[in-house]
Amino acid sequence: MAALNEFDVIQTFFHRAAPEGYVGVGDDCALFSVRPGYQLAVSTDTLIEGQHFFSDVDPYDLGHKSLAVNLSDLCAMGAEPKGCVLALALPQVDPQWLQAFSSGLHALAAQSNCPLIGGDTTRHPYAVTITLTIFGEVPITQALRRDLARAGDDIWITGTLGAADLALRYLTQRLPMDAERLEQTRSALERPLPPYAFAPHLLGHAHAAIDISDGFLQDLSHILTASHCGAQVSWADLPMHPALRGVAPALQQAAVLAGGDVFELCFTAPPTERAYLLDLAAQHQIRLTRIGTVVPEPGLVVVDASGQALNLPAQGGFDHFSA
Ligand code: ADP
Ligand code: MG
Repeated sequence: MAALNEFDVIQTFFHRAAPEGYVGVGDDCALFSVRPGYQLAVSTDTLIEGQHFFSDVDPYDLGHKSLAVNLSDLCAMGAEPKGCVLALALPQVDPQWLQAFSSGLHALAAQSNCPLIGGDTTRHPYAVTITLTIFGEVPITQALRRDLARAGDDIWITGTLGAADLALRYLTQRLPMDAERLEQTRSALERPLPPYAFAPHLLGHAHAAIDISDGFLQDLSHILTASHCGAQVSWADLPMHPALRGVAPALQQAAVLAGGDVFELCFTAPPTERAYLLDLAAQHQIRLTRIGTVVPEPGLVVVDASGQALNLPAQGGFDHFSA
């Protein structure tokens, strides 16, 4: 096959028919409208080879994850996906890699009604660099925000905790390989699926929300700080991924409380919403767990079954610039 130039790459792998009412790939800007009474919600995330993903990761999964991590941010505001643009920098054009990467991206885009409507394609000297920007819409003034939790709210999380962190520990040889456990946890790391259809239905029912990307403790703390309150969480109620059963308790705690790359939702809602929320979760086949309560006093306490406060890991989550 003749070498593909920049325009061939865009045409072959990223150009798709734009939905009705959109101008997509092919002009200088993408165009689309938000419904009257709605606001645009915008977020962006960068994934860098060697830093956020391994060079040999399945490119289909990587395409999926590039969009998933951004969908996760829309979920945290209760916004509905509208579209995305992709800025891609590549050391070389590898058609097989691009075919799989773009298929993974387009598949999740179709599933979540979030078409790829533009982007930029350039060369990078050595590292694949993927910046995806997402657009969603949310009714004016109704978005879920970090600063709206109130004392007395229940705290909920979707999905399970700890699996992605465990998989990453095996893949980076920070834990001796356990092929079976890696098998059980790897998809959580490589193919996260945030609850994008469920989240918009939280508007008017939940107060504050955040997506768990850097670690449960750290991300919940962001809500508490922004809302000027604290929380009491029960360790026994935290939905630990089943693959963590039987590993050392200290490792369970580190993975569940501080493990990153979760891409599930943590939100607060008044206790009067319990029945609505459980019903909504059942409709969407989402695992939803009530894990604690927002309290007026600042601070985050995790208690064990006997009511004793756990000694929390000093570092509650991931930080690109920490030592
Ligand atoms: P310009 O020079 O005006 O920035 P480009 O030549 O970079 O235009 O891009 C041509 C068209 O292809 C534009 O519509 C742009 O949005 C789209 N595009 C470029 N790269 C990508 C990509 N990786 N994914 C999706 N669309 C892309
Ligand atoms: Mg360009």
